[in-house]
Amino acid sequence: MLQETTNEDLDLVEEIDAYLKRLFPLCRSITGEPNRETLRILQEIIPLTINEVPTGTKVFDWIIPEEWRIDNAWIEDSKGRRIVDFQKNNLHIVNYSAPIEKLMDWEELKPHIHKHPKLPHAIPYRTSYYERDWGFCVTHSQYDELAEAEKQLYVKISSEFKRGSLTYGEILISGRSKREILLTCYICHPSMANDSLSGILLTSFLAQNLLKMKDLHWSYRIIFVPETIGAIAYCSANESALKQIDMGLVITTVGGSGLFGFKKSWNSNHHLNLLIERVFKSLNLDYLTYPFDIHGSDERQFSSLGFRINMATISRDKYYEYDYYHTSLDDLEYVNSKNISETLDVYIKLIEYIEAMVIYENKSPNCEIMLSKHNLYPKQGGALIPESKARTELDIILWLLFLCDGKRPIENIAEELNINVYDLNPVIDKLKQKSLIGEI
Ligand code: ZN
Repeated sequence: MLQETTNEDLDLVEEIDAYLKRLFPLCRSITGEPNRETLRILQEIIPLTINEVPTGTKVFDWIIPEEWRIDNAWIEDSKGRRIVDFQKNNLHIVNYSAPIEKLMDWEELKPHIHKHPKLPHAIPYRTSYYERDWGFCVTHSQYDELAEAEKQLYVKISSEFKRGSLTYGEILISGRSKREILLTCYICHPSMANDSLSGILLTSFLAQNLLKMKDLHWSYRIIFVPETIGAIAYCSANESALKQIDMGLVITTVGGSGLFGFKKSWNSNHHLNLLIERVFKSLNLDYLTYPFDIHGSDERQFSSLGFRINMATISRDKYYEYDYYHTSLDDLEYVNSKNISETLDVYIKLIEYIEAMVIYENKSPNCEIMLSKHNLYPKQGGALIPESKARTELDIILWLLFLCDGKRPIENIAEELNINVYDLNPVIDKLKQKSLIGEI
């Protein structure tokens, strides 16, 4: 169960709700003015820096595309009746559609019309970022109307491509340590609420919370990027900093009313995954677990071989998993601010756990230390056969020196050794006194 609702929570729920309503209508994409407007609105919540990467910039194997602007689009029958209208829903247009103005028969138009395979009332979400093309997305009844039109249909897309830039937002929050946690969400989806607007707002309010927290241990790098190309651009511009990061979170699809879900990071044994499970258990919440998968969100970039950051996701109605995924039914009826604020509580708890981690580092990582020199070895050696399951002090000393890599919290090491963490403390104290391990 989550904690009882307070007045402060109610204020937050209302505040998130107001931002949901303001941000939902914007026709975001991988580039363009609505992305800037989204980030400018988020600046009311947190002091985001807005950065631009110019069109044509090479980012690893990719090139930042031209900026897309759309003013209007529609399909009209011979009587001037608009059967499909961008002004009614921005999902009607295939995102990144090229301009067109033409009278055409259904046969010519048909390859450019997309409908949802299952949901008759849904407008599906489609994009064509890197193939210059155009198209419309429609409900089943609109599709039938277009197909049955007796005369030619007037098709108009008023859009434009120009040299411009890709926009992203970032905020760096410094803690006592220079070591960073990466928090990331994507800002490229037009009018859908769970994917990805809920994640944008949760990330913003999580950042606001971090700014209020006193005496943070970790530093936090929080970024708002268009999915894939924006994450790649960010990795390219911040290569050396990101290579120092061990773990992070991709925050997306956090506002549905279904079960909580948790997608593990690429290394399923990484302590981030164990921490998240502990958080769910401490809050007594049911949740679904998803293994790491190469399909997904920007963990595909941040966990790629060159960066290998362990990125997990806590979701509520995870992308791919809910019926309304990538459709117009993923709207403000499906998502609400209360659900987002409940998921925010889970993320805040996780941050508290991350902040409370106690991590030790073996100060002499190159080969074993000479234990006898430090008065840690039994007086006589050589003939002793290690007792397989015994946990002698020597045994614990050796394991701690072997496992204290400066990354894993001591709770996880205790778990792996199947020892209560309190039973490790006397040995830890001894090793600390002899300056053989140090707390990070
Ligand atoms: Zn999506």
